[in-house]
Amino acid sequence: MTPTTRISRDQHVWSFSENNEPAVTVQPGAVIEIETWDCFTGQVTSEADTSASLDLTRVNSATGPIGVLGAEPGDMISVSILDIRPERRGVAMCIPGWGQLIEHVTAPTTRIFRVEDGMVTMNERVTFPAKPMYGVIGVSPAAGDIETFAAGRHGGNLDDRMNATGATVHLPVFQSGAQLAIGDMHASMGDGEISGTGVEIGGTGLIRVDLIKNKASRWPVTETADSFYTHGTSAEDIDEALNAACEEALRLLVDEWAFSPEDAFIYLSVAADLGIAAYYHPSPGCVSARMRVPKLTSHPSPFRAT
Ligand code: CA
Ligand code: CA
Repeated sequence: MTPTTRISRDQHVWSFSENNEPAVTVQPGAVIEIETWDCFTGQVTSEADTSASLDLTRVNSATGPIGVLGAEPGDMISVSILDIRPERRGVAMCIPGWGQLIEHVTAPTTRIFRVEDGMVTMNERVTFPAKPMYGVIGVSPAAGDIETFAAGRHGGNLDDRMNATGATVHLPVFQSGAQLAIGDMHASMGDGEISGTGVEIGGTGLIRVDLIKNKASRWPVTETADSFYTHGTSAEDIDEALNAACEEALRLLVDEWAFSPEDAFIYLSVAADLGIAAYYHPSPGCVSARMRVPKLTSHPSPFRAT
C-alpha cells in the first residue's frame, strides 16, 4: 500500500496533551509512513552507554501528532499497523531500581542486539525471531498532559506486544482531530517486559488511520485476525489494571455483542485470557493489562462504522 503522507521522527512529542497541535493532518483512510526514534532517542551507541549516562528527559518520544479530520470526542480512530520495519541495531538494559529481578544486577548493563532478516541476535548463542511492535500509541487525553512514559484511556505507553504488524488499535477520541502519536518501537518484547526495556529500536512503519463516528470504547482495544484485546492500565496497582481490562471486555460483549452481563462474565471466564502486557515494577512506569477475547463467528467485528 502506498503512503499518502509521511511523518518523520523530527516531529514528535513527549506527552499526550489536550493542547497538542497536529504536525500533519490527514483524511480518514489515509495511509501514513511514520518514522520513529528508539526510546532513548539515539543516545545509546554502545554497551558502554548505560542508564547512568542517559538524559532521561529524552526518553519515549512519540512521532506526531497526526490530526484526523472529522474525529471528535465520542468517536474512535482505528489505527491499522500495516508494516513495522525496525533498523538493524536495538538496545535493552538493566536499569537500577527497575524490574522484578533488579536485585540480581550488580551494575547498570546495556546489551546491543543485531536485527536483520527477521531475526534478533543478542550474542553468538542467542538468536530469536523479531516480532516488531509499538510500545507507545495514543491520542490526546480528555484533560491535561500525560507524559509518554505513562498509559491510560488515551493509550500511551501500553507496551502490548499485540500492537504489532497486522493488528488494528482502536482508540477512543477525546479531542478534535484525535492527535495520534506513536513511538517506542521494539524489535521484540516479552509479556511483562520485566526489565522495563524491549529491544528498543528506531524504524519506519506503515499505518492506515480510519475513523468510526459516534462509537467509542473506554480504553484502547486491539483487534487481530482472531481476537480483540481489551486494555486496562494503572500507575502502580496491578489489580486495578487487571480489573479495568476485565471491565472493558465485559463492556465489549454487553454493548457490542448483546451479551447479558452474566453470560459475558461466564464467557470471559471460560474462553478469554487475562494477561499482563507490561509489569516491570518497581519502576516509575505503569502497569498494563490486557484480556484476549476470541472473536465469535456469530459476532466477528463490533467496532465498525454504523
Ligand atoms: Ca514502553
Ligand atoms: Ca520501550
